[in-house]
Amino acid sequence: MMGPDRLGQSSQEARVIDRSGQWWSGEDFDDLAEYLRVVTAEGYPADRILQSVCSCGGTTHRLDADPVESVAQRTCVACGTSAFIADSDEHWSAARPERWHCACGNDTAELGVAFSLRSDGEVRWITVGQRCTRCGLLDVVDWKIDYGPSTHLLAQV
Ligand SMILES: [Zn+2]
Ligand SMILES: [Zn+2]
Repeated sequence: MMGPDRLGQSSQEARVIDRSGQWWSGEDFDDLAEYLRVVTAEGYPADRILQSVCSCGGTTHRLDADPVESVAQRTCVACGTSAFIADSDEHWSAARPERWHCACGNDTAELGVAFSLRSDGEVRWITVGQRCTRCGLLDVVDWKIDYGPSTHLLAQV
């Protein structure tokens, strides 16, 4: 963690994302987007970060994901509509998805999808971020995309 001499310089950053505990937490989607930028920076940097919004306008979801099979499906808490994230429908039948749960026990979250793009614009890596709607904890599930064309995935968040 940061030393005392850096606390002053980092105060603005610390206000956005609370990194003081075992987990990082945030207050809104902007914090989740910032978290996605930070956690992807050393591996597959996020070029596009989009919020998952249900067709009803809802932004609180439950998430079922299997990172081994590279799939995730969200279900809107407000209306119950489910939607696949990115290409998850193609691999869903082989997957064994598990319901995402926060460390606090809650299972509803705001979701953000970070896309890391190749130089030709194709998607190479997808990271789905969660912000617990009860305690604000920030978390991620991610997987690789190894085919093209893949730009249509940007519309499936
Ligand atoms: Zn909905
Ligand atoms: Zn929580």
